Amino acid sequence: MKTIGLLGGMSWESTSEYYRIINQTVNRRLGGLHSAQCLMYSFDFAKIETLQHQGNWEALTLEMTKAARTMEGAGADVLMICTNTMHRMADQVQKAIKIPLLHIADATASAVKFKQITTVGLLGTRFTMEADFYRGKLEQVHGLSVLVPDQTGRETIHRVIYEELVKGEIIDSSREAYLDIITDLNQQGAQGVILGCTEIPMLIKQKDVSIPVFDTTRCHAEAAVDFALT
Ligand code: GLU
Repeated sequence: MKTIGLLGGMSWESTSEYYRIINQTVNRRLGGLHSAQCLMYSFDFAKIETLQHQGNWEALTLEMTKAARTMEGAGADVLMICTNTMHRMADQVQKAIKIPLLHIADATASAVKFKQITTVGLLGTRFTMEADFYRGKLEQVHGLSVLVPDQTGRETIHRVIYEELVKGEIIDSSREAYLDIITDLNQQGAQGVILGCTEIPMLIKQKDVSIPVFDTTRCHAEAAVDFALT
């Protein structure tokens, strides 16, 4: 089994989901007492969040590349950035290391295409919904059409992530607001919706939604297990 390196703590609430899913998936596939062989570098999220909202992506890129090299030096065979937003610097991180970086948008796009969906809604932080690094990969590399909520919808999605979900707060009225936004996206043509922030699956489950939802935490974690076991 290969060693999975996790860049986590963004936030730790979703990193603990990664850890659980990776271990459960390995155990389901290998049985017995098997669990994942992995390493984790967990950031202090306060520092990350401050730099994000200051727009200091250069400092964030330095933080991420430094941690990536640490994981490689410690023996990771593959690296995962356990957040959609921080894939903004995925190319620079990959260039800084020799081990492969498993991109969360690639893992998610495979699941979307497997369901033969071509138009998909995207929920995430405003960085993920508005910048090109994520949508661009889905559209240009994977040929998907991506719809994002309107400005008010994007503000709601972003606010709930940073004020509630990263602190583990699950609030019914926020779930309702998210479901209204998903309904709007569906009416505009989205055949499925990407939960493109690793905390959103704590709030929105498939049973809440009538169209397919793509849990990026799970898609990414399962792709890591596929890699580790082949
Ligand atoms: N975990 C989130 C994501 O998947 C947001 C927190 C962060 O900014 O990293 O984008």
